[in-house]
Amino acid sequence: MPKIRSCMDEIKEYVPGKEIEEIAMKYGLVPGDILKLGSNENQLGPSPRAVEAIKQHAGEVNIYPSSEAIELRHAIAEYVGSYPENIAIGNGSDGVLNTITRMFLEPRVETIISIPTFSYYEIVTKICDATPVFIQRTEEYEDDLDGILEKITDKTRAVFLCSPNNPSGNTTSREAVTEIAELTDALVIVDEAYAEFAGSSLVDLVEEYDNVIITRTFSKAFGLGGLRLGYGVMPEWIAKEYMKAREPFPVNRIAQIAGIAALQDREFLGMSIGNAKAGRGYLSNNIPFKVYPSEANFIMIDVSPYTATEVCERLLQMGIIIRDCTPMRGAGENLIRITVGTQEQNARVVKAFQVFAEES
Ligand SMILES: *Cc1c(COP(=O)(O)O)cnc(C)c1O
Repeated sequence: MPKIRSCMDEIKEYVPGKEIEEIAMKYGLVPGDILKLGSNENQLGPSPRAVEAIKQHAGEVNIYPSSEAIELRHAIAEYVGSYPENIAIGNGSDGVLNTITRMFLEPRVETIISIPTFSYYEIVTKICDATPVFIQRTEEYEDDLDGILEKITDKTRAVFLCSPNNPSGNTTSREAVTEIAELTDALVIVDEAYAEFAGSSLVDLVEEYDNVIITRTFSKAFGLGGLRLGYGVMPEWIAKEYMKAREPFPVNRIAQIAGIAALQDREFLGMSIGNAKAGRGYLSNNIPFKVYPSEANFIMIDVSPYTATEVCERLLQMGIIIRDCTPMRGAGENLIRITVGTQEQNARVVKAFQVFAEES
């Protein structure tokens, strides 16, 4: 047998949210009746303009995509208020994270990860043979800035911050990011997958600091998770190096065309954001547990004295898929995460939660 790298023993496979077909089969439910609120997908669907562009250009997939993707990078730069030279694209923002970490991480260096958070940061760290250093977030799930600063050493090569954070939904302050970026030469990677829903971004810090990278995606606010299109806003020198490390064609032709169309679809974007804001308020006010304040398209809930696993199981029986945070490092046993849906979907979620209010 060929010898596999020893770091593979340390890595746990990424666990995605449950899928509709799987749950329909297991619980004997009709797929059309199941709500999929475990993966923070856009419940309004994809951007209609993107869909139109996909249909129109489907016949061109025999041609390789543009490698430089200059048109898309222009459109992204305009959208975020940066320059094409600062934009690198990838197969989802996950693809961008993968390439960036392969450029900067190596054995014996460390990354800092503020937990509980998106588990992929740990995976990309370990696959590079680097060592993750975990900092537990505070009781209210804010980043523990002092804790992070304390753990930064000469070995630190990257600090991962997620803002708004998945699963807690709160943002990292501008001051925290600048303080970290000033203290260290390490990369400060701010994952802004949900920035549109927060209405704020730290993209402008890229101009000021040579070690700040912001990652963004079309998967959430634009509803294009299935297409796999993400980007990083980064100092020009890193974007140049990125071209050496990435795959030859990291973003497919259809995704490039759809991305440009989605950026022009401000109507859809506005609806997505409006739906998330209204829905998270409604859910927060009507779910009989502690709901953490969120600036994203999902909410985190402490379901004590129940365990997250039993609450998720009971919702599944009612045909509602949500996320059990128990497998997330540092999340404990009582946190769940629910994607904000349409009004109708949210009403069904609230109704499902009434059984817990009635029991207590
Ligand atoms: C959904 C999500 C992503 C994934 O983005 P893709 O662009 O679909 O790869 C990245 N980061 C966080 C925190 C997410 O929740």
